[in-house]
Amino acid sequence: MGPGPANAHPRVLRAMAADLLGQFDPEFTAYMEEVMALYRPIFGTTNRWTFLIDGTARAAIEASLVSLTRPGDRVLVINFGRFGLLLEEILTRIGAKISRLDIPWGEVAAHDQIAAAIDEAAPQVVATVHGDTSTTTAQPLAGLGALCRAAGAYSYVDATATLGGMPFYTDEWELDVVTCGLQKCLGGPAGSAPITISDRAAEAIFARRHIEKGLSQGEAGGPAPRIQSNYFDLAMIMDYWSEKRLNHHTEATSMLYAARECARLALEEGLEARWARHHRAGKAMVAGLRAMGLTVYGQDAYRMANVTGVFIPEHVDGEAVRRRMRTEFEIEIGGAFGPLTGKIWRIGAMGVNARTHKVLITLGALEAVLRAEGLAVPAGAAVDAARSTF
Ligand SMILES: *Cc1c(COP(=O)(O)O)cnc(C)c1O
Repeated sequence: MGPGPANAHPRVLRAMAADLLGQFDPEFTAYMEEVMALYRPIFGTTNRWTFLIDGTARAAIEASLVSLTRPGDRVLVINFGRFGLLLEEILTRIGAKISRLDIPWGEVAAHDQIAAAIDEAAPQVVATVHGDTSTTTAQPLAGLGALCRAAGAYSYVDATATLGGMPFYTDEWELDVVTCGLQKCLGGPAGSAPITISDRAAEAIFARRHIEKGLSQGEAGGPAPRIQSNYFDLAMIMDYWSEKRLNHHTEATSMLYAARECARLALEEGLEARWARHHRAGKAMVAGLRAMGLTVYGQDAYRMANVTGVFIPEHVDGEAVRRRMRTEFEIEIGGAFGPLTGKIWRIGAMGVNARTHKVLITLGALEAVLRAEGLAVPAGAAVDAARSTF
């Protein structure tokens, strides 16, 4: 019950045990096509360019930023936690001219603030995060894409922590590039990163297409500067995922099976039902923690459904509690990063773990551990309060 990675669905683990296929095997390329189709509804898009980046979620973040942003481009980062700072860190390496709209941890940016920041920075790219697990806060994104498009900018959103667990509408929100990972709400292992790219962003990326020497048949390169990374060159990766099947990397076969199974499970359950399941689990967690007399971190209106921050009570050793949870109950809960280190625990309920019984068991265990660590916690109150929300 940490903030991710979470447990994988057993069907995903079984899918990964299937035999390997060659990357140009028709059966395998059919799976690639199927994966593209499966992830479109999950992203809430009809984007043709919806596929997988091989690597953890960060691989897709880096591929997006290095392919969208040219050195010297102006980029606005809307930063409200560790993963906003990661965007800045990657963009610094790219050589972008970065402006930051810094939002205090635990808060979100207001639409007007974003509009003003875009006006001031005149960015070519705006990059942000949907749910930043470091702060357990989700930035509302409706209207962001429209602001960016009106300003002639491309938008990038890291939705790693929320896709499949909270409502997400790439097309309705007019977002250009959105990326994810499997190990949060999608209930898979880390190692494959779904991505979707709007046609207008794909066009800009293809303008930077320079096919690598060993594969080139003498095609002219695009008019825009070559993408600085080979592995994360989205133009070449899209050529590989297109009917051209132009070889780039060897697609990570078993991870593709995993990503496919994650998507099939999500769509079988139904996205609305899945979002509701995460919402129920998160709400029960919050109610239970409060009934124990603990203070939940952040604001209810902007809380992520799938991970809850809670202040470590005074005179309680946060690490000792985490250790006891793990050794006595085999339940993982998370610590925190940056300014929240040692101040809050982060407790997840995502993917297969977003189940009411898992929330109840976690609350019961935490109550017992807190009592063992000397905190007077009302017996049974947490579980009762959580149950009353169902
Ligand atoms: C968990 C998380 C990631 C994880 O990236 P990895 O490369 O898979 O470790 C990225 N972004 C956000 C917002 C996350 O919550």
